[in-house]
Amino acid sequence: MSAGGQIIPESMWSVCYRTNKPTIEDYDEAIQELERAKVDLRWKRDGFAIPTCFVCEDSGHTAEGCHHNPLLLAREWARATSVWQCWHCGFIATNDKEAIDHFGRSDGEAAKCLVSAAVEAAVRSERERCAAVADQYGKFEIDTEHGEGYATAASNIAAAIRAGA
Ligand SMILES: [Zn+2]
Ligand SMILES: [Zn+2]
Repeated sequence: MSAGGQIIPESMWSVCYRTNKPTIEDYDEAIQELERAKVDLRWKRDGFAIPTCFVCEDSGHTAEGCHHNPLLLAREWARATSVWQCWHCGFIATNDKEAIDHFGRSDGEAAKCLVSAAVEAAVRSERERCAAVADQYGKFEIDTEHGEGYATAASNIAAAIRAGA
């Protein structure tokens, strides 16, 4: 990472820009930065002038505009990505319309993939039930000429039903 053309050693990177898996110390640091950002708001509310940024200690800005403020960075990321992945089928929605189409408008609605899987299962089961009826029908009086015709017709019908025709 560089700032103002200067290469900053990794040990100096502020917590949000580190690339390691977050450690206990990283969380502590992020929490401290958030606490300091809260102090910034309290001071402003109480009418105090802010001398430097409480989050990064730089001058020229306050915690509300600091690019090390973990909450601001998290919100920017959330806004920039707007990506939601379905836990059930892996579908990734990249905008509001896709998300509403797949997940519905509220938590109470089932994801579209779950609904279509349930519908498919119901159709499969009904198709199998009808095919089984055709199988039974074909078993009547197979020893007569008519019976054999029925059996052939029934097995053709059952095959077509099972194939989804
Ligand atoms: Zn700052
Ligand atoms: Zn899904």
